[in-house]
Amino acid sequence: MSTTSKYRSDYANVTPETRVRMQAVRRRDTHPEIRVRRALHRLGYRFRLHRKDLPGTPDIVLPGHRKIIFVHGCFWHGHADCKRARLPKNNAEIWRTKVRDNQARDDRNIVALRQLGWNVMIIWECETSDPSFLSERLQNFMRTK
Ligand SMILES: [Zn+2]
Repeated sequence: MSTTSKYRSDYANVTPETRVRMQAVRRRDTHPEIRVRRALHRLGYRFRLHRKDLPGTPDIVLPGHRKIIFVHGCFWHGHADCKRARLPKNNAEIWRTKVRDNQARDDRNIVALRQLGWNVMIIWECETSDPSFLSERLQNFMRTK
C-alpha cells in the first residue's frame, strides 16, 4: 500500500499547508529505521524486516533472540515531551486524534507481542542521531533476557 493512498482521505480535511507538513513528516520517518538497521549490522546481528505475520508488522525482528525493535517517528507516535512531536496549530484536533489512535494501536501491538513471548524495544527517531548512543542502547537491549 502506498503512503499516498493510505492518507489521501485524511488530506481532504486539512489545509494545503498542513498537507505539505504531513507529507514531509512521512518521508523523513524512514531515515531513523535505516540508522538502526546499520547499527545492528555493525554489531553483527541478522534480522528480518516488517514481518506481516506479527502484530503491528514490527520494523525489525531478531527471531533467534525473540527480540523486536520498533523505530518510531516522534511525531506520528507521539513521543512524550519531544520537540519533534509538537502538534501544528492548524487542525490541532485532527492531529491529536490521529496521534492518539497510533499510540493506542502501538500499545495493543506491544502487549500482544509480549504475550507471544517477544522482547520488545522502541527506539524513537530523536534517539537515532548519535551513533554511539544508538549502538549502546542496542547492545544493552540485546544483552537482556
Ligand atoms: Zn522524540
